[in-house]
Formats: sequence, structure tokens, C-alpha cells
Amino acid sequence: MKYSVVIIGGGILGSAAAFFLGRSGKDVSVAVVEADSTYTHATSPQGAGGVRQQFSQPENIAMSTWSLAFYKRFEEEMAGVPDLPDLNFQEQGYLLVVSADGAKILRGNQALQELMGVKAELLDRDALRRRFPSILRDDIALGCYTPDDGWIDPHAGLWGFRRGAAHHGADYIDGRVTGIETTGGKATVVTLADGTVIAADMIINTAGPWVGEIARMTGADLPIVPMCRVQHFWKCAVETEKLPLVKDESGLFFRPEGAGFAGGRPSFEIEPGFVDDIYRGFFANYFEETVWPMLAALVPKFENLRLERSWFGHYAQNQLDGNMIIGPYSPGHDNIITAFGFSGHGIMHAPAVGRALSELVLHGSYQSIDLARLEYDRVRRNEPYAETGIK
Ligand SMILES: Cc1cc2nc3c(=O)[nH]c(=O)nc-3n(C[C@H](O)[C@H](O)[C@H](O)COP(=O)(O)OP(=O)(O)OC[C@H]3O[C@@H](n4cnc5c(N)ncnc54)[C@H](O)[C@@H]3O)c2cc1C
Repeated sequence: MKYSVVIIGGGILGSAAAFFLGRSGKDVSVAVVEADSTYTHATSPQGAGGVRQQFSQPENIAMSTWSLAFYKRFEEEMAGVPDLPDLNFQEQGYLLVVSADGAKILRGNQALQELMGVKAELLDRDALRRRFPSILRDDIALGCYTPDDGWIDPHAGLWGFRRGAAHHGADYIDGRVTGIETTGGKATVVTLADGTVIAADMIINTAGPWVGEIARMTGADLPIVPMCRVQHFWKCAVETEKLPLVKDESGLFFRPEGAGFAGGRPSFEIEPGFVDDIYRGFFANYFEETVWPMLAALVPKFENLRLERSWFGHYAQNQLDGNMIIGPYSPGHDNIITAFGFSGHGIMHAPAVGRALSELVLHGSYQSIDLARLEYDRVRRNEPYAETGIK
């Protein structure tokens, strides 16, 4: 078996890359090797699906703006794709809220976003209370509201890209990559657990929280750890106004979901590593003891809530600066590229990153958004390039 491009990991990022490669119309054969097509442990289906343009770095803002527009015209972009799932895009906006300490950074970020064409509105304490009267925590000094933002169904996003990629010719191969052979400074062959060998001109490592395992197969060491993130769905006995996705400086976030709300708070206190049971150990009472009190302080109506269910996934956490790493990374092997380290942003950036990966394969450089500052080189130089403010 031989392909121009072998993509390891068919989550939303790998599938987006396969989609853009296939849709380019260029003469490239693409295989996506996916270890578990039920995506039981993959990160993509577990996400909140939030798509926001509120960032501090121009690259992240540009990726969000383009991806947001792409998601809004998903059906047209995916024209002809059979069984396209409904993305269920909810254009209900994003609201970041900060205390006085975070106000300067929020203002600076809003100014850059506005400069880049994002509709981003600053709301002082009074304006905030008039617009969103349920949000009442005393220390909140400022909010930034981006009404064009919203959220998608992440499972539909993943399967939309996967079906789109298959429609444009990508072969999905069920299997676990266990080895990569290298010859003459190139990674040439991917080996699967069942003994299948696939020759490749180019390899894309989009194995999400497992990217580090794939990297070690060619002797590379990526600054990545899996971090367990839990989400919850609850119903509230008291009605609220129509709310956007709300997020504060502690990382606490929630958004409306059907007849209730989905959200949580990333647990920065836990040790990195894969977690397989959130009903034992650190997370056993996490909602009751940590998340619920924080939610009720932010929105007092949430004192009257009923937790319906919790679920979890793992961030591919970049230990250098929490930001994406894209491009070549394996010493001496320029034909392996990656995209990982999105923390909680991989769904919203999947269209732009999928396109960027396809540009690296087809042109050897970025053609749309210049992502050079987000490449692995900053790891070699030990120069973090981190988001400021709410991450
Ligand atoms: C609780 C939570 C909330 C989130 N909320 C948001 C949000 O609101 N907005 C947002 O943009 N992002 C959010 N995220 C982040 C987002 O979900 C991720 O950044 C994104 O899904 C990463 O996609 P991926 O394709 O890189 O990884 P994954 O979806 O994990 O895909 C990687 C795939 O690689 C496969 N694989 C691994 N090893 C191998 C191997 N050896 N061989 C073959 N295949 C292999 C796996 O089976 C998996 O399917 C959230 C994440 C979590 C956990």
C-alpha cells in the first residue's frame, strides 16, 4: 500500500486536513489511519464545541475568524457530501468576564480583535448587568461580548469533516500505528498493529493527546501531556435570559444546551496523564465541591440546579505555552508534520488548521494565514508564545 500522505489520527484535525487535501483537486492520495472509529476516547466528540474570536494573538484571531465563517457555511463547503450531519451552529455569542485585575488585558485584546474586523463589544459592570442580569458575581468589572461567535455540535463537526474527506477520496483505515520506519532522512513507512505496512511520501501526526507516542517513533520529543477535562450537563429550576457561552478568568465556562446548560472548569490542580474513571479519585466530587459553588457565585440562579451527567476527554496540553504547535518537528525528518497542543481550541480552529496542514503538504509553506510563529522552532529556542488573558 502506498499513499502520498498518511494521516495518523482521524479526529477533527486529521479529518479536516484530509478534507482540504482531497478538495484541493491536486494529485494526492490520502490515507487516514484511525485506531478507534467509534471515537470513544478521542477528544473531539467530548468538546463543548465553542467557536470564539476572542484571543490575544493575531494568528489565533485570524484562524477563528476564518473557521467561524467556514462553520457558518458548512453545508455549502460540504456540498455533495452524503449523510452530512447537522452542525447545529448556535450563533449565541461568547462573553468573557473579568475582575478589575484582568480588565487591562481584556481591553487590549478587544482593541486588537476590533482592528482585525471582529465585532467585539466591551461591557462595563452596569452594561453587563443590563444585558445579562443573571450574571451577578460581585468582582466582575468588565465583559467582552462577541455576538457573531457561538458553538457547534463537535461530534457533527468531526463526522462532517470525516465524511467530507472520504467524499473527496481519502481512505480511512482502521488500525493503530505502532511504528514508523525512516530511510535517508525521511519517514517512509507506517506500520500498524496488525502488521499492515503503508508507504508514505508525507506523514501528518494528528493523534491528539497521543501525538507524543507517535513522535517517539521517530526519536522526537514533544512537550505534550494529556490533561483530563470534565464537562457537565445540568438543568436549572429557574429560567435565565438567553445567554451566550460565558467564561471567566478561572476557566469556568458554561453555555445553554437544549433544556439545560453544559460547562465546567478545567482542573489545573491535577497531575497530567490519562484518566479512565471520573467517578473515583480526584474528580469524584469535583462538580459538587468545586464547579457548582463557582457556578452559583457567577450566576446565583444556578444554586437551583440538578446535575444530569458528566463526561470527559483529554486536552493535548502543550507544556511550553499552551498554544498550538504546527509543522515539522522530528529532527532530520522534514516529511513529518503535526498540529497539536490546542488546549480547548481544537474544534474552533480545525478548519483553518486543516487548511494550513494541506498547504504545508501541497506548497511547503502557508498560503493563507502565516502560522510560522506557532511552529516547533519556538520549543527548540525555549521561547513561549502564549495567549494572554482568558485562554
Ligand atoms: C472537555 C473538553 C471541552 C472542550 N471544549 C472545546 C471547545 O469548546 N472548543 C474547542 O474548539 N475545543 C474544545 N476542546 C478541545 C478540542 O476538543 C480538541 O482540541 C480537539 O478535539 C482535538 O482534536 P484532535 O483531532 O487533535 O484529537 P482527537 O479528537 O483526540 O483525535 C486524535 C485521534 O487519534 C487517534 N489515534 C491516537 N493514537 C493513534 C495511533 N497510534 N494510531 C492511529 N490513530 C491513533 C485517536 O483514536 C483519536 O481518534 C475541548 C476539549 C475537552 C476535553
